[in-house]
Amino acid sequence: MSMLQRKHLIAGAWVDAEDRFENQPVEGPADSFAAGSDALVDQAVRAAEEAFWTFGYTTRAARAAFLRAIADEIEVRGDAITAMGTKETGLPTARLEGERGRTTGQLRYFAQAIEAGDYLDRTHDAALPDRAPLPRPDLRLMQRPIGPVAIFGASNFPLAFSTAGGDTAAALAAGCPVVVRGHPAHPGVSDLVAQAIDAAIKACDMPAGVFSLIQGGPLEVGAALVQHPLIKAVGFTGSLRGGRALFDLCAGRPVPIPFFGELGSVNPMFLLPELLASKAQATAEGWAASLTMGAGQFCTNPGVVVMIKSEGADTFLQAAEAALSEVAPQVMLTDGISQAYTAGQSKISGADNVTSVVAGEAGPRCAAPSLATVAASDWLADDTLADEVFGPFGLVVVCENAEEMLAVAKGLHGQLTCTLHLVSGDEALAQNLMPILEHKAGRVLANGFPTGVEVCDAMMHGGPYPASTNFGATSVGAMSIRRFLRAVSYQNLPDALIPQDLL
Ligand code: NAP
Repeated sequence: MSMLQRKHLIAGAWVDAEDRFENQPVEGPADSFAAGSDALVDQAVRAAEEAFWTFGYTTRAARAAFLRAIADEIEVRGDAITAMGTKETGLPTARLEGERGRTTGQLRYFAQAIEAGDYLDRTHDAALPDRAPLPRPDLRLMQRPIGPVAIFGASNFPLAFSTAGGDTAAALAAGCPVVVRGHPAHPGVSDLVAQAIDAAIKACDMPAGVFSLIQGGPLEVGAALVQHPLIKAVGFTGSLRGGRALFDLCAGRPVPIPFFGELGSVNPMFLLPELLASKAQATAEGWAASLTMGAGQFCTNPGVVVMIKSEGADTFLQAAEAALSEVAPQVMLTDGISQAYTAGQSKISGADNVTSVVAGEAGPRCAAPSLATVAASDWLADDTLADEVFGPFGLVVVCENAEEMLAVAKGLHGQLTCTLHLVSGDEALAQNLMPILEHKAGRVLANGFPTGVEVCDAMMHGGPYPASTNFGATSVGAMSIRRFLRAVSYQNLPDALIPQDLL
């Protein structure tokens, strides 16, 4: 039903460009799309700035209706989006349908959150005119939207972390217009989702510049977007390398702006001794399933296991080897990602003192699981062994004793998640690990796997650098709206000059 526009959406108009690029379908003919340019970025950002003066002052009810209309319009195009998504990313239909539900659910959840209004942090310190020695003025505080926001999605979530994903939903909920730099791994999906947003803008009578999509193009286009003087913040989901490059550009601007980068992580799991003595086999099988789900292409993929030498640890390794050896190669999101996976896992598996246990062989654009093991002392001595390998690669770090396990925990980089697997009898070691793990990760979980990030008020999907470039921020959950707000105090202002939401 829905047809591709193959152009950029800029302030309600589909804009073509001479330069073009093609998507990389898993099979079938490629589609060609208009490529981005600095001039188009400038056009979109100026339209966003103009829209801000209306959109930033819309009522919460109007913005909530807009978010719900986007969700409805995505559902109307649901089948076409899924068909395009499977073609461009190789992700299965069920996964993309689930991701669509998460994306529309997220939009409706943000609608509810702004209606409830807690995110505004409204505070009133009433005047104390008779206070000695000095009277206190009347002070009211509230969060206000910051202005146009640039958004970069990730390849592995073509819906939930992309064009109308969490960052876009959070910025629109806050009252900030959005310019999306479309991910070149799924321009067709972005095109269809932009059509849905465009329809919602028209249905809700929102200013046209509230949303623009600049499709892929040279990297300089992304750089121009984050450096545009009218952009007030950046939401980024992606790799450490890309995120760091754009973060540095934001910091180097004449007027620096916040860069909310949610980057990858290795999500270590700590298997405690009593658990290994009783549940090594089942835990290994669960890990293998989690590690290979979606070809391991999750920022929350549990890529590292830490355990103490024991019979149970040997059983775990043997069971993980058996389970991972049986998993067939899976299609990856892009050729580039599969090449990076092959290079990353061979670099770690082939490093000094690392033993390769399963060396997955796969064809082009495919990944087969790989497994390697290393002694904790060697892992601690080589910082590069802690790097994320995006794909189904597992590294098992074997400690001599509990002290070494604590040292490994202390040696971790910032993580999105850390997981404890424990049973009765493991509490003492778990209690010693807890202060370290909560210092290292945004989310600590027990007896489960970190993939599957719940969208809810209590979710923290961020963490100390490099998991996130801003460790106080989350890119999932209601708190993510706060990234695009700035608190303002209103002192002794008459009611007529105070935002309606504060009265
Ligand atoms: P990516 O390669 O960093 O791409 C993300 C976006 O940034 C793309 O649009 C990309 O454009 C752009 N980009 C990258 N480097 C740039 C630069 N130097 N200048 C301008 N633009 C640049 O990431 P990805 O492959 O899409 O996603 C996979 C990564 O995301 C994994 O590391 C995964 O762990 C992480 N991830 C994190 C989360 C989270 O919430 N923390 C969620 C999902 C994924 P080009 O493609 O044109 O380079």
